[in-house]
Amino acid sequence: VKWVYTFGDGLAEGASSLRDLLGGKGANLAEMAKLGLPVPPGFTITTEVCTYFYENEKRFPPELGPQVEAALAYIGGLTGKAFGDEENPLLVSVRSGARASMPGMMDTVLNLGLNDVTVEALARHAGDARFAYDSYRRFIQMYSSVVLGIEHGHFEEILEYYKELKGLTLDTELAAEDWKKLIVDFKAKVEEALGAPFPQAPHEQLWGAIGAVFGSWMTARAVTYRRLNDIPASWGTAVNVQAMVFGNMGETSATGVAFTRNPATGAKELYGEFLLNAQGEDVVAGIRTPQNITEAARRAAGSDRPSMETALPEVFAEFARTMNLLEKHYRDMQDVEFTVEEGKLWMLQCRDGKRTSKAALRIAVDMTNEGLISKEEAIACVDPASLEQLLHPAIDPKAERRVIAIGLPASPGAASGEIAFTADEAERLKNAGHKIILVRIETSPEDIHGMHAAEAIVTARGGMTSHAAVVARGMGKPCVSGAGSLRIDYVKGVMTAAGRDFKTGDLLTVDGTTGQVIWGEVNMIQAELSGEFATLIGWADAARRMSVLANAETPQDARMARKFGAEGIGLCRTEHMFFAADRILAVREMILADDEAGRRAALAKLLPIQRGDFIELFEIMAGLPVTIRLLDPPLHEFLPQREAEIAEVAESLGVPVEKLQRRLAGLREVNPMLGFRGCRLAVAYPEIAEMQARAIFEAAVAVKKKTGEDLRLEIMAPLIICKAELDLVKACVEAMAKAVADETGEAISYSIGAMIETPRASLRAAEIAETAEFFSFGTNDLTQTCLALSRDDAGSFLGRYVAKGLLPADPFVTLDQAGVGELVEIGATRARAARPDIKLGICGEHGGDPASIAFCEKLGLNYVSCSPFRVPIARLAAAQAAL
Ligand code: ADP
Ligand code: MG
Ligand code: MG
Repeated sequence: VKWVYTFGDGLAEGASSLRDLLGGKGANLAEMAKLGLPVPPGFTITTEVCTYFYENEKRFPPELGPQVEAALAYIGGLTGKAFGDEENPLLVSVRSGARASMPGMMDTVLNLGLNDVTVEALARHAGDARFAYDSYRRFIQMYSSVVLGIEHGHFEEILEYYKELKGLTLDTELAAEDWKKLIVDFKAKVEEALGAPFPQAPHEQLWGAIGAVFGSWMTARAVTYRRLNDIPASWGTAVNVQAMVFGNMGETSATGVAFTRNPATGAKELYGEFLLNAQGEDVVAGIRTPQNITEAARRAAGSDRPSMETALPEVFAEFARTMNLLEKHYRDMQDVEFTVEEGKLWMLQCRDGKRTSKAALRIAVDMTNEGLISKEEAIACVDPASLEQLLHPAIDPKAERRVIAIGLPASPGAASGEIAFTADEAERLKNAGHKIILVRIETSPEDIHGMHAAEAIVTARGGMTSHAAVVARGMGKPCVSGAGSLRIDYVKGVMTAAGRDFKTGDLLTVDGTTGQVIWGEVNMIQAELSGEFATLIGWADAARRMSVLANAETPQDARMARKFGAEGIGLCRTEHMFFAADRILAVREMILADDEAGRRAALAKLLPIQRGDFIELFEIMAGLPVTIRLLDPPLHEFLPQREAEIAEVAESLGVPVEKLQRRLAGLREVNPMLGFRGCRLAVAYPEIAEMQARAIFEAAVAVKKKTGEDLRLEIMAPLIICKAELDLVKACVEAMAKAVADETGEAISYSIGAMIETPRASLRAAEIAETAEFFSFGTNDLTQTCLALSRDDAGSFLGRYVAKGLLPADPFVTLDQAGVGELVEIGATRARAARPDIKLGICGEHGGDPASIAFCEKLGLNYVSCSPFRVPIARLAAAQAAL
């Protein structure tokens, strides 16, 4: 078995395609060597050895020893040195390197092979004793802490004590003699801690280090990191052993890290830092402040220390060419580590660079325009979910934050405003021109109008799927939920946080992206939808098959939906139109009326209001399809709760308060989500559906007369369980369409559809499709009914299901493809069999989730509909799914 792969001098046994076997670092070292780049020669011990190691009581395969010896000889041949040689010793670094980059794995050991004898040889060859002893002491420090498990702090202490004694401050001030003395102390410390002397034999050092790298795969921090990042333990790590090059050989030597483009902005510019006369991790360790690589960056930073471009001009030119070549070769932004040894450049690592979402967009678009990648590749390389960061206003990164509490980052974006503790207060203050932050212990459907009025929402209780979180995400408003340290006293109108009292009207800033609640107003930067964003999304639109619609009902949401590129409204929840202050009383009268006559009287008041809403909505959508859902929620959501409200309704209805109380009690349900809701309302009280249908058609006629444009109207009934329900609703809508056409002389075309939100509806899809011209899978409710899992109550246990791996993800965030997904598939297949041209789509939170969108593409659905803020994400995700 081949356990070892060599690289160096224009050749390599490995390649970047062998990442699984060689780890990311090893594979790219091989690739760079093959490209003819200056890579110190070395070899990679494969990840399969790691697997063998753990399957064989931490023993190595018998062939490994000879293969490592042969590889050492290969490096020796290329460098003219020999490992363990006392005259001309080869020194190596031992580096870990898994398939995925894993911070928290073993630290690298540099300068391995040094001992009391070889250090002298190194000094002679370099003509620099200080350099040699500095390297040796670094090696003892690193090896002792990484391989022998001796605390780094011991050596720091000895060093600090010594410097104090000698009146020295910087490490660079220590001479060879100083390091020699310190090395004696360091070795004594090792012997004291270990009960054995510091290993002098280079081979013992090497195998110790190799064993430590494999051993580090199972350390607690590595195991935790893998768990958090879904990296399987079976992958294993590789070990890279590589000839040392020295950045600490004086002022023509250096070490640094760089990116081929700016990882923060995406700008095409060499970006990075370096240090003269330094080794390995000095740059990132922050011991000295690093210098800029380019002159432009130095000038921009206003630094008075020279850039690499001026300090080492020839090396810089070669480095710039190399960076260019690497980016062209990998066709992605690269992140590299390099060292300069006495004016000679050496490349030590390269990998695809991490970047912000803003940079990701710019790089994808720029690289396409440069002809480096195709449009399809550009679409594929941006993570749709990361766009969310760009769509919401964000806190200016330079602004100071006085954080008073931290909760869950329930809905991203940031906003400032004045505190309001009740929904009514929020609405009143908003109408008076204030910006409001709604602060609640928790929210309920009663608070919707206050959430609408607020810029952002904070709750002291509740999780990522709490009412506040779900509604806020739907509205695209920032929300921090479950900020448990907040003490909220509604009666006094006071919130206590960080030892201070906040009253109604006090200013707060909410950062729903981080979960921070911040005292006062903080500077914001607005979402940027032009430039690269628009370009990339435009390419995505051309590549996708499914249409992307929005869930929207208020004029504000509808405008937002259009701004974000929705191709229509896929879900207009008419009940959201019922909560506003100017109509809630009429809604309550309708619900609490004794009989049909009473209901009709209340509905007559609602008709013009609802018609007005639809007119505004149709005008905004200007001929784009609008899918309207008839009234859906349990009626109790509209009922008055407080004494004053009850009295108000009683008076308006002309009935005694006691009678109304009895009626309220009669409407109470044990399980409202499975109760009197959905199309059941239309079945029991057809006059409600009639009013809604009339409002829709009258509005459509009004808009058509005004604009001359045809509307694309779709009307759907929620929570269908059988065809007969839909037939009833259809008959009612048809009658209204005809009535309005007769009255106005204007016929409006429309289609009728069913919301598939119950398992039964999916199973009976064939017959429902005889009536329905389209299906909208309401996957929020379908998830609740399929899993018998109440979204409002799941907060207390669902997290544990995910943490323990019982469910792969929160099914309200990512569609449960195995279960709910099969119901969607069954529904789609049976519906198509009955009506081949039926239009199929999903609405709900899943419509904006990339994984769920990919599933919809697989099923060949016609559209997804999601909250306006997720529309750009869905556009990109739909394109990726189609590619
Ligand atoms: P990490 O994965 O933590 O970046 P590395 O294995 O890349 O660890 O090494 C840490 C540091 O040591 C880097 O700055 C790297 O450039 C440097 N280094 C590694 N091998 C050598 C070598 N053969 N010669 C000189 N410096 C090296
Ligand atoms: Mg590195
Ligand atoms: Mg529903």
